[in-house]
Amino acid sequence: MNEQFITISGARQNNLQNLSLKLPLNKMTVITGVSGSGKSSLAFDTVYAEGQRRYVETFSSYARQFLQRMDKPKVDKIEGIPPAIAIDQTNPVRSSRSTVGTMTELNDHLKLLYARAAHLVCSRCGSKVNRDSPGSIAKQIEKNFGGQDITISFSVTVPHNFTSEEVKGFLQAQGYTRILREDGFSFDVIQDRIIVCATNRSRLIEDLEAALKNGNGKLSVYLCSGEKKQFSSGLNCPDCDISFKDPTPGLFSFNSPIGACETCRGFGRIIDFDIDLVIPDKNKSLQKGAVKPFQTESYKECQTELARFARRRGIPLDIPWKDLNHLQKEWVIEGEGEWDEGKWYGIRRFFKWLESKSYKMHIRVLLSRYRAYQICPVCDGARLKPEALLWRLGEKNLNIHELALLPISDALDFFKSLGLKSHCDEAAEMVLNEILTRLDYLVSVGLGYLTLDRQSRTLSGGEVQRINLTTALGTSLVNTLFILDEPSIGLHSRDIGRLIEVLHKLRDAGNTLLIVEHDPELIRA
Ligand SMILES: [Zn+2]
Ligand SMILES: [Zn+2]
Repeated sequence: MNEQFITISGARQNNLQNLSLKLPLNKMTVITGVSGSGKSSLAFDTVYAEGQRRYVETFSSYARQFLQRMDKPKVDKIEGIPPAIAIDQTNPVRSSRSTVGTMTELNDHLKLLYARAAHLVCSRCGSKVNRDSPGSIAKQIEKNFGGQDITISFSVTVPHNFTSEEVKGFLQAQGYTRILREDGFSFDVIQDRIIVCATNRSRLIEDLEAALKNGNGKLSVYLCSGEKKQFSSGLNCPDCDISFKDPTPGLFSFNSPIGACETCRGFGRIIDFDIDLVIPDKNKSLQKGAVKPFQTESYKECQTELARFARRRGIPLDIPWKDLNHLQKEWVIEGEGEWDEGKWYGIRRFFKWLESKSYKMHIRVLLSRYRAYQICPVCDGARLKPEALLWRLGEKNLNIHELALLPISDALDFFKSLGLKSHCDEAAEMVLNEILTRLDYLVSVGLGYLTLDRQSRTLSGGEVQRINLTTALGTSLVNTLFILDEPSIGLHSRDIGRLIEVLHKLRDAGNTLLIVEHDPELIRA
């Protein structure tokens, strides 16, 4: 096969002195040299800049105005350059909603897998919730109403473009002639009347099957006493009589309003007053000024009110804060009612009131002195609504948050041993494979110690670069020029071999790699 090259002639960017060279396409090329020799000038300021510029030129002039234009590098001619992607060490992420999981797109795959393959545990009793089937409903009926004469019925609503007579006609054509109840909008249709006994078992199951089908997954059973029992083929804990909704992928995403915890809006933390800052000296009594913000000139009125209400309630004012009992402390913090009702409002309402005035600069400064980020009390840092956390995977019953707290190498082991049940579809199988591949890449580049919940902005430059490298691999791009800046940085020497394997994989997928590097092992590769 004819070897192809990127040809560069007369590069003079920064300190490059009229450099001309050929870079082989679909190969891995390492640029090395002492610092200041112009490695980055060649790789980033010349080759990458030109690759980007050409790429931007392919957009319409309308789209181009929104893209960052790169200056044409100082070079006579560059030929044969593919679209370029730089994988460098800058960490552009500032939002605390970006995590290793979102960066690697693993969260997107996990939410699909949870929506398809997770099982549900009951929010009250914690036992596994199964979907009711005709067989399981029959069992419940036999257990509770054995020997009784029952009527099985299902409801049909009249679609808005039909009359109830027309719907009745359809039903009659299918053999359903007995209507239990009708109100012009819906019918309760009798499926069958049957005595619950062992000889009728298969007929009962057939009836239930048909009624569920006609009633859109719901049916009613009337006992001879007139009592009505409802059953559905949905998710239902029979012991607690709680029904659950089927999950959607959005339920498992803290970046979606469907899944995000309503209290912290998916951040996992809230900003609230910190009692250790409000009462810094636990040896002080209330009288001596334990509640620090009440001691200033502006809020000494609050101190007076605290003392007045405390006397009325018999809360001791002269003993150290640490010696007050739990209920007394809670009274001071939570209060007993609103200020305008003439009640003790407590420290919490005091801060709520301050917050409503936080458009004033001095109030904002005051608040910042007593507030701190705290783990969200509702989701306990999980960022998700409680119903999302009821869905579990595998024999270890891990919810998606517990999974995100595992080191990636442990998560890889977890998914390797996760046998999806045969009822799971091909799509779940595909998603699982995608997850395994990505986790495996992350372990390969020496990042097995990170958790998916780790915030992106706390990562080092080297970690960011290697994560982006695995993401690039996962997106299966081809004919692309990847430019990397010292990918070995911060890596143990034993991990460099695996990093090289990953780089070779990227090359073998049909890409060109240009690497600025000092590590001798990588240079040899
Ligand atoms: Zn239950
Ligand atoms: Zn929360």
